Amino acid sequence: NNTFVDEADDTIYALSSGAGKAGIAVIRISGSGSLNVYSGLCPTKPPPKPRYAGVRTLLDPSSPDSLNSNILDSDSLILYFPGPKTVTGEDVLELHVHGGSATVKAVLAAIPKCCTLGKVRYAEPGEFTRRAFLNGRLDLAQVESLGDTLDAVTEQQRRVAVQGNSGVLGKIYEHWREELLLARGEIEALIDFSEDQHFDESPTELLTNVRQLVEGILHSINMHKLGSQKSELLRNGIRIALLGPPNAGKSSLMNQIVGREASIVSSEAGTTRDIVEANLDIRGYLCSFADTAGIRTESTRSISNLDGGSTPVIGAIEQEGIRRARQKAMDSDIVIVLASVEAVNGGGHRISYDMETLKLAAAAQQCLVAVNKSDVVERGTLELLIQEFKSSALGSVQGLHGAEPLTISCKAAATAAAGLTGPGGVHTLTERLVQSFSELTSLPGDMHHLLGVTERQNQLLSECQMHLKGFMTEAQACGTGREPDVVLAAEHLRLAANRLACITGRGDSGDVEEVLGVIFEKFCVGK
Ligand code: GDP
Ligand code: ZN
Repeated sequence: NNTFVDEADDTIYALSSGAGKAGIAVIRISGSGSLNVYSGLCPTKPPPKPRYAGVRTLLDPSSPDSLNSNILDSDSLILYFPGPKTVTGEDVLELHVHGGSATVKAVLAAIPKCCTLGKVRYAEPGEFTRRAFLNGRLDLAQVESLGDTLDAVTEQQRRVAVQGNSGVLGKIYEHWREELLLARGEIEALIDFSEDQHFDESPTELLTNVRQLVEGILHSINMHKLGSQKSELLRNGIRIALLGPPNAGKSSLMNQIVGREASIVSSEAGTTRDIVEANLDIRGYLCSFADTAGIRTESTRSISNLDGGSTPVIGAIEQEGIRRARQKAMDSDIVIVLASVEAVNGGGHRISYDMETLKLAAAAQQCLVAVNKSDVVERGTLELLIQEFKSSALGSVQGLHGAEPLTISCKAAATAAAGLTGPGGVHTLTERLVQSFSELTSLPGDMHHLLGVTERQNQLLSECQMHLKGFMTEAQACGTGREPDVVLAAEHLRLAANRLACITGRGDSGDVEEVLGVIFEKFCVGK
């Protein structure tokens, strides 16, 4: 609905700090009635000097005369910001009141009772920010990253949001848009007047110049799309799949990581054959960690100093679990393959692993091979087993030649937590993971601002790219003998510029209301 447009003159108010028990609650009022609200609550004292804090006692405006019985809150901190250089672009009043829910409730209830010129009502979700946008205080790219800021749980999510907040991206897109529109103008002038006026540039020269401009923008768009890809990883989380044969210790490893190296953001339990997924915060990176059903296939082998292992028989339910684990591996950014040291009947040890899993891992963007249960054999035997594992298993998979498997022990890690033995290598594994996170998400040094590019912006950039390529096709016809269609070329530039306008919400983006709806539906009240 379009209530916003119709009621843009209303003065709005809302609790802007978090709900629930807190020391201080911040109530924000925005609009031309802000000062009236102040006078209603503090009829005897003038408002504090603009942008300076003042301490006031807030009174109930519906019973101003009754002594003391009408106090809503004493020692409230009041700030008044006259428009237009405010967060919303309007007059803003901030009441910092005591945080108890009864106090907040009483003050909120008193605000609409204050006598103002226009209507005073509770704000809709995101309405403060919407006004900031409509009054030119923020562009849409900034509005989106404000949303990211409010949603940020991990340190890296915060970083992405900060990059988008700066307004740098919006300025870049505005600049491109202006250049494209200027070029389009020149081309159209050429179409309209070339027959009866003298032009400094020939049509070919003009098109060549514009082609250079467009080539430059096309190159930059590719960088921005890369930035969006990386920031999506930081925003939505890096997907990690943990694969390995049944009993290798996958669940134990996941528990160790969660217990020692990560905090759970959210989790989803699965049945034995299903995938257990948890969103973890590992050193500030959000990752979704999937502990899959054990993969056991015809290719499951074991390196043994005694026997050759056996070929397992696999049932239908297990088969389905395996199918899902495979899919998970293919959808993940990082695959951790777990093998384990197992005792062999009749003495001796072997490394149990699955060949197909290793191949899946090698195909992933980043992979990590670890051998668990290093505690069950002596150092020397372990080294021999690892050597053999490297040459016969890793050596036969393309992409894993020379890979150095980590040896870990979830058991030792568990006892280390209790102060008994060494750390068990889980910490080293985490270090390696964090290194992979940083490789997956890093951008060249001078391009950190590109971390702010959102998925919505990415899509609009793709559309812009398409129109610019359309332009290039026309412009390049110059040398081929075919007459370039200048009218069509100019139209491509107009459409490309229009897509950029949609990113910032400025200029002739046409469907601004629709764009606003998409962005603001995620906001909460008070923002
Ligand atoms: P999953 O099927 O791969 O998830 O394996 P689990 O985590 O359920 O572990 C299978 C068995 O191996 C359990 O009995 C664990 O206690 C045991 N286990 C896990 N890690 C270690 C380890 O580092 N050393 C030893 N000795 N046993 C382990
Ligand atoms: Zn398990």
